[in-house]
Amino acid sequence: MTDPNTLNEPPRKRLFVALMGLTCVLIIGGAYLLYWVPTKGLTNIHPDLPNLAGVVLAVLSGIALLGTLLLVLTTALGKDLLFTRFMRGVVIKFLLPVIELLGRAFGISKDIIRQSFIAMNNSLVISQKLKVRPDRILILLPHCLQLFECQIKVTGDIQKCVKCGRCDIKGLSELAEKYSIAISVATGGTLARKVIIEKKPKLVVAVACERDLTSGIKDCYPLPVIGVLNDRPFGPCFNTKVDVEKIDSVLQAMIG
Ligand code: SF4
Repeated sequence: MTDPNTLNEPPRKRLFVALMGLTCVLIIGGAYLLYWVPTKGLTNIHPDLPNLAGVVLAVLSGIALLGTLLLVLTTALGKDLLFTRFMRGVVIKFLLPVIELLGRAFGISKDIIRQSFIAMNNSLVISQKLKVRPDRILILLPHCLQLFECQIKVTGDIQKCVKCGRCDIKGLSELAEKYSIAISVATGGTLARKVIIEKKPKLVVAVACERDLTSGIKDCYPLPVIGVLNDRPFGPCFNTKVDVEKIDSVLQAMIG
């Protein structure tokens, strides 16, 4: 049985944590620089203003440092310490764009950053120790998991799959049956959003590539999404694969 925590994939998560720390240091450094340069101007307005600005800056720096520390501890310990849901929002809405820029500056590919973000997101969702009823979980799959040569149209209705076993749709469809969980194959973001609106899940387990998972996690927030990367032995968007056992482990850990 695959350990659901392997979804955190430590080396990938570590990269995000490292870039997060660097972002924090750069923000604090930049803020102090901004404070230091116009100090004289502030003194001209009021002699106490530089001190006041210094206190505000110190408080904001403390919050940034504590937030980073809390995120590191939450992901390292896998426990919902404090404000995990809120911190996931900070990571998605604020840190990801900054870290993408930072990654570009260091020549780290977008996909590596996205892998790292997905690992971090999974870690935070798993840390929340959610227990969700099976009928409120949705497994969302990309169309490219289906064998290209298969004549059956499983988009919209995966039950049509006759489970010949030539692609992972069989295993995933059986998994959904085993736990009585909704499962859907979407051809793109628009259809995926439509399915989510219809099914109103409390947890989504999504399979896709780095780009689609990242945008899906962002679009769905605050809905918790666990992202599982597909394998692409034949290149992108064609006869892709996924570790069905890994998804089984995630479901076992999340079903309440
Ligand atoms: S497992 Fe289902 S979807 Fe995959 S090739 Fe067979 S019938 Fe088609």
